[in-house]
Amino acid sequence: MTCQHSSEQKLTPPPPPQLCAEVAVFAPLLQPLSYVVPTHMEEILHPGMRVRVPLGRRSAIGVVVRLRPSGDEQWQLKPVSACLDEEVAALDGASVAFLQRVSAYYSYPPGLTIKTALPAGLTRQKAPAAIQQVHYRSTGKEAMLRGATQQALYTFIASGQDVAMEEIRANVPHPHAALKRLEALGLVTRTERVSSRDPFVGLDIGSDIPPVLAPEQKQAVAAICPDSKQPPVFAPFLLHGVTGSGKTEVYLHVIAHVVQTQRRQALVLVPEIALTPQLVKRFRARFEHQGVRIGILHSGMSVAERHDIWREINHNRIEIVIGARSAVFAPLQNLGMVVVDEEHDESYKQGEGLRYNARDLALLRGQMLQIPVVLGSATPALTSFERARAGHMTLLSLTRRALSRPMPAVEIVDLSGIKEPCVLGEQMLSALKQTLEAGEQAVLLLNRRGFSPYLLCRDCGAAFRCPNCDITLTWYKSKARLKCNYCDYTQAPEEICPGCGGATIEPQGVGTEQLEHTLRQYFPTAAIARMDRDSTRTKGSQQRLVDQMEKREVDILVGTQMVAKGHDFAAVTLVGVVDADAALNFPDFRAAERCFSLLAQVAGRAGRGSVPGRVLVQTRTPENPVLECALNHDYHAFCAQELPMRELLGYPPYGYLLNMICSGLNRVEVEQGAEKLSRLLQPHAQVEVLGPAPCPLFRLRNRYRVQILLKAATRLPLHQVLTRLPEFNAALPARVSLMVDVDPLDMM
Ligand code: ADP
Ligand code: ZN
Repeated sequence: MTCQHSSEQKLTPPPPPQLCAEVAVFAPLLQPLSYVVPTHMEEILHPGMRVRVPLGRRSAIGVVVRLRPSGDEQWQLKPVSACLDEEVAALDGASVAFLQRVSAYYSYPPGLTIKTALPAGLTRQKAPAAIQQVHYRSTGKEAMLRGATQQALYTFIASGQDVAMEEIRANVPHPHAALKRLEALGLVTRTERVSSRDPFVGLDIGSDIPPVLAPEQKQAVAAICPDSKQPPVFAPFLLHGVTGSGKTEVYLHVIAHVVQTQRRQALVLVPEIALTPQLVKRFRARFEHQGVRIGILHSGMSVAERHDIWREINHNRIEIVIGARSAVFAPLQNLGMVVVDEEHDESYKQGEGLRYNARDLALLRGQMLQIPVVLGSATPALTSFERARAGHMTLLSLTRRALSRPMPAVEIVDLSGIKEPCVLGEQMLSALKQTLEAGEQAVLLLNRRGFSPYLLCRDCGAAFRCPNCDITLTWYKSKARLKCNYCDYTQAPEEICPGCGGATIEPQGVGTEQLEHTLRQYFPTAAIARMDRDSTRTKGSQQRLVDQMEKREVDILVGTQMVAKGHDFAAVTLVGVVDADAALNFPDFRAAERCFSLLAQVAGRAGRGSVPGRVLVQTRTPENPVLECALNHDYHAFCAQELPMRELLGYPPYGYLLNMICSGLNRVEVEQGAEKLSRLLQPHAQVEVLGPAPCPLFRLRNRYRVQILLKAATRLPLHQVLTRLPEFNAALPARVSLMVDVDPLDMM
């Protein structure tokens, strides 16, 4: 767009119109900023590219959202300092438009919205280099080795071909000094090579042949597959199918259509990719041998790994992206379908910063691109179900399990008559015994980590609490530490109660660590494994557990809700829910929904193979109607019970929520700020203002927190409230920050 005027009127040369870039700068600014595009960049700069720009006295990074001819303001504008994308823009045009809508919907600064969407490697000035992976191999030379570490290390490396550093670290603690020594002695050699960043590489993937679909599956596939003769339209579907009914098989079929017939790309969102190695495996087995490339994106990957996959997507070298929450932003330029598996899962909601819900954004993206979006679940979120019932989504149902496998029998085990604390009742123990004797596997769910949720003083009843948060510290016996599961604060337990000087300090309540320990006592010869956030911290550990389950090297798998999600273990015939009441008694209007979904999902792990499954649910409130619905695998009965209550109270799906949270280090300031804010908010004809009230977790990471919950029958008035954010921020004391959560899920 260069314009060169041969200015003949010498006295008043007209200013050459210049190109101006609107840049969403990675800073908390409400609007993009304008910069002049220097002439040498005019040819190369495109929307979606990353640039460096001056911002006050420093420089900042941002993404060009629009290019336009500049008006008179060009003389005041500073120039773009540098373009950071060389050939291909970090984001395509449609993604830029999508992210601007996201920014508006969540009232979150456009630059920070884009920053959230980009992989960390692209939000810095210097992109990470391709990853070098370090490997060691033995040279076959012999030498006398001193020290156990050197010895162990050498044996370990010699036992493999080319041993990756990661493996070494996982097997030999603190190997660095010894490795150096072995290298100096000429016993091992070190090689570096660009890794194939795929976390699932090395998995044995056969190829598979698609099964013949059951009639309901066929109907679903036919409904979803876009008809190429028709103009493209946004088509949202809710695929409601009981666990094991073949939803994944439906995804595989419709995606085959999109990728192979339409030659377009597909995006598959899963709650947490680490939990679904089996799904990834099935996609790879189905597609890779046909030359379809699959890219995996998830939070467990390193910055460089994510960056690499992103680059592959940018260069159009990937047809299917499978990823967790943030993959909804993957800049696929020819996207033809989005699938959201386990759409009810709350991990689709980001809990901080840009508090987006990837399921909702998948629908928005599908709407903007005019493509089908498939939400699948055995227990759809009530909001999704209601949306389908109201005709905004097409409901597709799979009512029976594949291969006519029966749903597992659910039995309620009433513990209400037992006075003392009871972790594993007699029924549970005998069922476990039978399962082990039959050579089958069991899964036990207990949604609490650690050994005990509290360590209590016998004398005064005080529990150890986190100094930063309003919560008791969890007791980890194996590490002999008390730990806060919110802020990661840890401390050694004290022998004397700091409050009363009492000397009897005892653990209270049972967590997964203790359950594992107890099971070992009852079943000393059984192989018992635990799956929770603590046991799966290291990379690949989650997957190792899944592999061990598949290979039947584990007899009993104990864990938190992680065990409930999506796994398909054919030999699991018993599922035990140790404490159903914990989930039911949660102080939140969604407690019943969460509990029903958790029970249905975990029950769905039983009886997926040829032997029928059995589910035991321990409770002290056996008459609870939620349990009754779970007992009968009756999602519709649960909806019929729960929806009228929501309607009565105007809660979602019959109303919209906006949570405003004031927080700060000074309690009085926070409380006064919240009061002031609530006065600014009311009275309001269309918005109900609840609070201010202290958050259930009043103090978190040292900050006091007070919330005001806004409820309205439609979204519009809540959006109008959001436009007043600058006013609210100005009214609050400087040290109190205001955070807004649109469509909140977790209101702790
Ligand atoms: P979901 O995703 O609903 O839990 P899956 O797609 O994982 O269900 O199916 C459950 C099991 O049944 C899997 O082992 C799958 O391979 C098998 N399966 C699904 N559909 C069919 C079919 N039409 N014929 C034979 N087996 C099937
Ligand atoms: Zn804490």
